[in-house]
Amino acid sequence: MPLMTRHFSFSRTISLGSFVIWLFTGALAIALLAAFQYRSGLSELSDWTRATDTFLAEKLAQHDAHMTALAAVIRMSPAEPSASVQGLAQSVTAFYPRITDIATIRIDGTTARAIAYGNPNGPVIEAGQSAGDLPILGKPGETTIRPIPERHAYDIYKLVEAGRLLRLRISAGALLGTDRIPPGYSVSLSLGDTALFTQATSGTSILDVKTSLSASNPGQPLHLLISRSFRLGELFPVSLVIPLLIGSAILVWLGVQYRNASREKRRQELRATLLEQEARLAHAGRVNALGEMASGIAHELTQPVAAMLSQSQAARRALTLDRADILEQALDANIREAKRAGDILGRMRAYISGAEARIEKMTLAEALNGALRLVETDLARQGIRLETAIAEAPCIVAIDVISFQQVIHNLIRNAADAVAGWPEARIALEARKGRGQAIIAISDNGPGIDPALLDRIFEPFFTTKPDGMGLGLPLCVRLIEKMDGTIEARNDGGACFTIRLPCGGAA
Ligand code: ADP
Repeated sequence: MPLMTRHFSFSRTISLGSFVIWLFTGALAIALLAAFQYRSGLSELSDWTRATDTFLAEKLAQHDAHMTALAAVIRMSPAEPSASVQGLAQSVTAFYPRITDIATIRIDGTTARAIAYGNPNGPVIEAGQSAGDLPILGKPGETTIRPIPERHAYDIYKLVEAGRLLRLRISAGALLGTDRIPPGYSVSLSLGDTALFTQATSGTSILDVKTSLSASNPGQPLHLLISRSFRLGELFPVSLVIPLLIGSAILVWLGVQYRNASREKRRQELRATLLEQEARLAHAGRVNALGEMASGIAHELTQPVAAMLSQSQAARRALTLDRADILEQALDANIREAKRAGDILGRMRAYISGAEARIEKMTLAEALNGALRLVETDLARQGIRLETAIAEAPCIVAIDVISFQQVIHNLIRNAADAVAGWPEARIALEARKGRGQAIIAISDNGPGIDPALLDRIFEPFFTTKPDGMGLGLPLCVRLIEKMDGTIEARNDGGACFTIRLPCGGAA
């Protein structure tokens, strides 16, 4: 089994374009991740704010309840310090550590004396203070609140009865419960404009989202400012960013592979279609060429057959005149024409069977002289003057002799047709070497080619002659092209056809 190797081409598989697509996809995935993280951070913030609202409402309601219960017990204890007030206050402070102090204050004129309860060792009678420093409450049961920023706390005052106040001191930090503040959150609890407690998050944040919350308890109008900080690592967690980058790289790579595979498939389909079309064209071309060749055979054989007919008639006349010299001439011409017909048929056969042309190297003069011999007699008989000017410079052409002769013969025949019956009918053949090419110009002094038709005369079956087939010139083009040459037509007085063939300096 043959060993199959598969070459991995980096440049083909990962191009700059793919790299840019990967960067874009990766950046998009990371941006989506950050957006997702941000959104979940926001919803977490809103959940926490809502939960804190409920939590605070519960706690504040408890304060109200404690105040009511304590006020009732205090009212029932006119003599102080009271053991029952102490008992209740002690259990309240024990169960609710945020309530750091419970005191009753007796106002006597301008002085006031507070008794602090809740202390496990019993009530503590505090030193007297100025009654002016205390809040003024009108009716029993009325409450008010006072911030104590230096202690991060606030006091709730309730007028129990005339001259007796109840005071509950609440620690703001304990109220919020610092352990329930999630990392990344900064909270600030304030009473009016006075900040009571602040807990700020540490670390550098790249984005802060702020929200606020006002306690719904009218007796304790606390205000909470919450700030959620997003750190770089939180929005772009490395544990997700790296897999995302790798994942997007894999996706892009798969995409590139898929695109390459489908491109290759399309290329192969296109190639197959082209090959099929080419095959069809080649077949059509062959059929067309065979048709052309069949017509060409008929066209080309017309000349030698007509020549043999007229030479045979001349031979017959020579017999009656007893002119052996003319007879010999006619027979020679017949042999030549018969050979030419044979050659033409042979070449046609070779063409049809696909055989290559027989290319020979010879001087341009040799090639032309051979071709001219075939037409000289005919032209002389028609009274057409043939002027030849073949340069002596050595010029070697590689030609299929029979094809070359046929081209020259066709062009001279066309020129003869054009000047037939004209006074001073003349055909000129000029051959020279120029820029590495053999240049052969065949011109006549006939009417020339209608300029409007110049482009069309090389088309198969284009003819202006009543008995023409329109195959001579297309055949000439095909034969000359096979010898790597070109042929073109123009008007120069009459018509002028120029053949160019590659030409070397030595045989
Ligand atoms: P055919 O000779 O059967 O018409 P050709 O392909 O040899 O076919 O020539 C095509 C046409 O080119 C001719 O019918 C004629 O109109 C024009 N043509 C060719 N040679 C000459 C020429 N020397 N002078 C004027 N017209 C020419």
